[in-house]
Amino acid sequence: MSLGRRGLLQANQILKMFCIWKVGDGTSIRAVSQPWVHGQIPKFRDNVNLGTATTTRVADLILPNNQGWNTRMIHRFFIPHDARMIQSMELPYRPTEKDRFYWPLTRSGNYSTKSGYGLLLRHQQNETYNMTTPIGSKFFRQLWGLNIMPKWKLFVWKIWHNCLATSSNLLKRNITTTSHCATCLDDYEDDQHIFRFCPLAIEAWVASDLQINPSGPADISMADWLELWMDKFLKEDGFGGLRLPQFIGTLWAIWKARNGQVFSHIRATEEVYQCHLRESHQQHVRFLRDDHPPFIPPPAPNYGPPPGLLSIKLGKLQGFHPDIIIQIDGSWDKSTGFGGVGWVAMRQSRPFRNKGEFLFASSALHTEALACLSAIKWVRSMNLANVLIITDSALLVTFLGSKAREDITIHYTLDAIRTEAGELPSCSLLKVNRDQVQMAHVLALNCRKTRLSLE
Ligand SMILES: [Zn+2]
Repeated sequence: MSLGRRGLLQANQILKMFCIWKVGDGTSIRAVSQPWVHGQIPKFRDNVNLGTATTTRVADLILPNNQGWNTRMIHRFFIPHDARMIQSMELPYRPTEKDRFYWPLTRSGNYSTKSGYGLLLRHQQNETYNMTTPIGSKFFRQLWGLNIMPKWKLFVWKIWHNCLATSSNLLKRNITTTSHCATCLDDYEDDQHIFRFCPLAIEAWVASDLQINPSGPADISMADWLELWMDKFLKEDGFGGLRLPQFIGTLWAIWKARNGQVFSHIRATEEVYQCHLRESHQQHVRFLRDDHPPFIPPPAPNYGPPPGLLSIKLGKLQGFHPDIIIQIDGSWDKSTGFGGVGWVAMRQSRPFRNKGEFLFASSALHTEALACLSAIKWVRSMNLANVLIITDSALLVTFLGSKAREDITIHYTLDAIRTEAGELPSCSLLKVNRDQVQMAHVLALNCRKTRLSLE
């Protein structure tokens, strides 16, 4: 077996170790030996005999006919904390759903090169991975803390957010009529091309002693590629390391050489690039020697639509001038998994019906989705038409609006909302400010705290 193939198999085994179960009908999962409760194996109580424990399938813990978890059995079998965790997990909306493996390090549960590669690196270094760390924000915390020129920080920030004035970006905004690369005449110049795939970039990386293969991994975004290398240099060399400024200086010099070609028609040769590299190195050395004021990071560019306009159609038609507006909200306590949901239906700005419920949930977003589902079920039972549901959760609207971007832990709940609401003639969901869902908020909070439901 070749070394490459063996390496791949080994990598595959490590990755498999990290996959966890998403419970469907529960027939494929052994409750005692497979990670099925938020990636953990729940603990049986001491008084449960071993024979029972080893033969129990997760399916045995689910009531028939979509009635939810068998809470009595769960509390008889498992220690209290783990019993609560089990109750907080959603069950399928459709009874035919099979159990499946998923990848825990991305929100959607789909394997991504970045998370996989990152995991392998961490595994090699014997570090435990904290699933809650948002990789993007940690990257920027580190970036702002680096001892490098502010213009370099902004430069990296721009590459990460893909807002450099590359030909393809300019074409997208109708500023130019061509997307080709002025250096090599390739017909698509984006940031990946400039910094990784253009012959100029390849020469630059080969000439450096950073041992970077710019073309690998192949299907990785520019942002991920940046994070990958910067993370590696920071981990291996620390904040005072030499390779990180060298890495950024190389990117900077490539960019300068490319700009010379575009704006001044100075051919971007390796000599020109080397000249920019020396200059950027000198600037960095001077920067380290001098005193400098603290750097203030910029806010992220606003990609989302303006507030009040994030909305999606859930029913068959887009509704206008809704007869009924329902505000929804959820409340959640991480330590216990206790949740509350609330909704208040209004007609001509007057509340006429509300509902609050105590339940178990796996996240704040989960309670928000359950509040939405509860409101929609009520709308259906009342045969109402032309309804607008308002929420303060941008994530809920985003996830319901796109199946590609989803959170696997609430997959079934989103599925239920889409299916139930899809039967309604007209129903929309709109993101609003927190104070516009205040009544539903109070209801949800009270239900969680008192552990009572009210109608
Ligand atoms: Zn090129």
